[in-house]
Amino acid sequence: MTGAGANGAPILTCRRKRARPGEQGAVKNDKPVAPATQVVEAGRRPEWTGAVVNPPVWRASTHLYADSADLATGRANADGQFYYGRRGAPTQWALADALTALEPGAAGTVLYPSGVAAIAGALLAVLKAGDVLLVTDNAYEPSRALARTVLDPLGIETRFFDPLDLGTFPDRFCPRTRAVLLESPGSLTMEVCDIPALAAIAREKGAVSLLDNTWASPLGFAALAHGCDISLMSLTKHVGGHSDLMMGSASAGEHWHQLLRLKAQAMGNVVSPDDAALALRGLRTMAVRLERSTASALTLARWLRERPEVAHVLCPMLEGSPGHDLWQRDFTGGCGLFSFILKGRDAAARSRFIDGLALFGIGYSWGGFESLVVPVDPARVRTETPWPPAGWDSADRLGLRLSIGLEDPADLIADLERAFAAMDAG
Ligand SMILES: *Cc1c(COP(=O)(O)O)cnc(C)c1O
Repeated sequence: MTGAGANGAPILTCRRKRARPGEQGAVKNDKPVAPATQVVEAGRRPEWTGAVVNPPVWRASTHLYADSADLATGRANADGQFYYGRRGAPTQWALADALTALEPGAAGTVLYPSGVAAIAGALLAVLKAGDVLLVTDNAYEPSRALARTVLDPLGIETRFFDPLDLGTFPDRFCPRTRAVLLESPGSLTMEVCDIPALAAIAREKGAVSLLDNTWASPLGFAALAHGCDISLMSLTKHVGGHSDLMMGSASAGEHWHQLLRLKAQAMGNVVSPDDAALALRGLRTMAVRLERSTASALTLARWLRERPEVAHVLCPMLEGSPGHDLWQRDFTGGCGLFSFILKGRDAAARSRFIDGLALFGIGYSWGGFESLVVPVDPARVRTETPWPPAGWDSADRLGLRLSIGLEDPADLIADLERAFAAMDAG
């Protein structure tokens, strides 16, 4: 059923004659297909799927050559060409291809074994000794750890900045500033920043802008179209969607994609075909899962806002919540991840709340079908911006982050209600 053509291109027997939207031969249509259609269609090229719906799992290290002449000619070491296992095979190419199609302005996508590996891989691709990296103060904590443990010993200096202070942002640049790492909303504290403005300033200063777009995914925020150079995602979250795989991605236009690809290959980054197949399977339902978890999160956020135990709800989709206006201006979707801050209460009370939950699992990560809770203590990690923010009662410090899954929201509300009772019964 399989083989390689004279030019090394994969060939799978396929009975399907109709081209998919966007493919060569597809009926020309003025209207590009909507993202929800694209998550279903993208990456399903007939030469990769054959006669079935999904690309098979190609477990491969060695790719065989036809004869010694074929080997001597040397097949093109290009995406979509059989060459050697570290360059992937159709399962991984289909996933990368689908993610590229979902990100307007992207020429290609590089896959990494985790989201952190994607952030590390992209930063190591664009930075060299002597460079300065600017990192948003609300960054995912492992991104901060990466700066400390990997970049610093290589002679790359990291400086943090307040993502909400546009006015002083240009002053943070020096002639050595080479890159800016953004994250919006911040995955603990949910600040939404003005990405188009920050990315435009970075570009004007000659720096590369990288956005950790895990929260919104390209369905909720078109990173490159809003001026970012590289869009990073932990596929572990929404794309996988079932808490059963780890993976990351970096999508970019032609120039940066070529650099990311070169460096990722030099560093030996490759993802397993089994995980790529799982990620593709997750991707196909991502739009409906996000729609449902966003709606449920909003229902829960509205309910929490009315509770006397809650001082602040940090949910960009919620009217009146910090960052809501920018979210409305720039984003086309949300997700199930948000935080809230307890009114007063100490750490023991917060633990009683967490332990009083039955439907929310206690654990890291998010974006799965199941709801999760973790305590958040931003004050512990921040260096540039105060926590709690100015204007808050200093007693309202302790936070909780919820990842809302696909359960019935009424059951989740009942669970939260029981946990509040347990919190104050202690
Ligand atoms: C989880 C996460 C990552 C890292 O992803 P892994 O796949 O767990 O390595 C990066 N950024 C954000 C915002 C995350 O939440």
